[in-house]
Amino acid sequence: MKFADRLSQIKPSPTLTISAKARAMKVDGKDVISLSAGEPDFDTPDFIKDAAIQAIKDGQTKYTSVDGTTYLKSAIADKFRDENNLNYDLDQIIVGTGAKQILFNAFLATLNPQDEVIIPAPYWVSYPEMVRIAEGVPVFIEGAAENNFKITPNDLKKAITNKTKWLVLNSPNNPTGSIYSKEEFQAIEDVLKKHPDIYVLSDEIYEHIIYEHKFYAFAEACPSLFNRTLTVNGVSKSYAMTGWRIGYAGGPKDLISAMKKIQSQSTSNACSISQAAAAVALKGDQDFLKERTLCFKERRDYIVKELNTIKGMTCLEPIGAFYVYPYCKEFIGKKTPAGAVIETDTDFAEFLLDFAEVAVVPGSAFGFSPYVRLSYATSLDQIKEALKRIKKACSSLT
Ligand code: PLP
Repeated sequence: MKFADRLSQIKPSPTLTISAKARAMKVDGKDVISLSAGEPDFDTPDFIKDAAIQAIKDGQTKYTSVDGTTYLKSAIADKFRDENNLNYDLDQIIVGTGAKQILFNAFLATLNPQDEVIIPAPYWVSYPEMVRIAEGVPVFIEGAAENNFKITPNDLKKAITNKTKWLVLNSPNNPTGSIYSKEEFQAIEDVLKKHPDIYVLSDEIYEHIIYEHKFYAFAEACPSLFNRTLTVNGVSKSYAMTGWRIGYAGGPKDLISAMKKIQSQSTSNACSISQAAAAVALKGDQDFLKERTLCFKERRDYIVKELNTIKGMTCLEPIGAFYVYPYCKEFIGKKTPAGAVIETDTDFAEFLLDFAEVAVVPGSAFGFSPYVRLSYATSLDQIKEALKRIKKACSSLT
């Protein structure tokens, strides 16, 4: 079979080699600790699971409307209104199979060949590839580490061309955990006011995993861009529901309807049972979110403190999500005990896997090197053991 040209545009995931190797090591009986997970280690709360079981018993097992049940869309509209001060009508909301499908729908529905999408780096691995699949062109702007990896209005101005269709924002960010303040969003708004054809795709999936700071939805901070913003969210991260595959978005009616058209000829509705469970997640008692965030915060405090005690490693304190993104330049050029020279952050990640038996993700996956991403969505005991091993391995480099 000769495959489509578009396939050659998609880069294989740079994390695949490391995760395949980690898996193989585990099969060989090695005690590999994975700090590479992009999902909470917590289980889905029982009241959400019970809602799914009840939905099955009640026969909610048929197709639903392509864009989601009215019950779930109403719960989403309430969530947007109560938590984000955003008022969306039901025809301005779409539910998909994870935020991933929502993003995919948005790009497929709007990009013509060569249309540009501005993606601040470091970025979540899937944005550029989704844009490429939709035959658009990802345009990267690097956020400076000194600015917590966030872009400035000037960076944005320089990247805009007459082909720019979207600016993608992701706060709290994967992989850095940075968040944009209201004022930082508004500085971006000032730039975009002069470019009425550019839309903002604001991926807010880590909204509830945030420490010490107040979260702002982009459209909430920048009301003048409400009609040009697609606010993307989902239950995967906050509610520990990655496997249930429910993401959603609020946005302009014509855009939502275009996205629905794409979805209607691909997957149709998201799983009916998951939709019932997601509605209960959004409507139910939210207290457990605070408890879980406190737990993530304790881990973050520990991991940042310990990483900064490792000679050659520097790690900023993230404000949200469950990742840290330490700088590892000092280790580039060093020799491993096996005599190999570490040339890239991918080599460094491989070294940590080989010599510390700890799996992390190299910064190259997120378009910003030399860094590694460590996820602390695992128990504090595992994190402590992993840090002990990383420290020991790093001290063996010459
Ligand atoms: N957006 C970001 C920034 C993510 O990190 C992820 C998952 O890792 C997603 C979207 C996709 O989430 P979902 O599970 O809802 O498809």
